[in-house]
Amino acid sequence: MKMCIACGMPMTQIADYPLYDISKNYCKHCANKDGTMKTFDEKLASLTLRYMQSHDMDCAIAKHTAYVILKKLPAWKQK
Ligand SMILES: [Zn+2]
Repeated sequence: MKMCIACGMPMTQIADYPLYDISKNYCKHCANKDGTMKTFDEKLASLTLRYMQSHDMDCAIAKHTAYVILKKLPAWKQK
């Protein structure tokens, strides 16, 4: 089983892959409509928003948390 390199989500079904392409290392949530991977800034923005909404976090704290989590993932390690 593969894990998304950009968000860490386990990809267990073909529907988890962008455009059903199982050769990809990232999931559909981390892909653009054309199947290419989203950028670090795009993932950071969407994750920040999710934390603010689901945990009622302050914007700066949510952004920092999102940053720390994303930096642990293979796709963003060297950024
Ligand atoms: Zn992902």
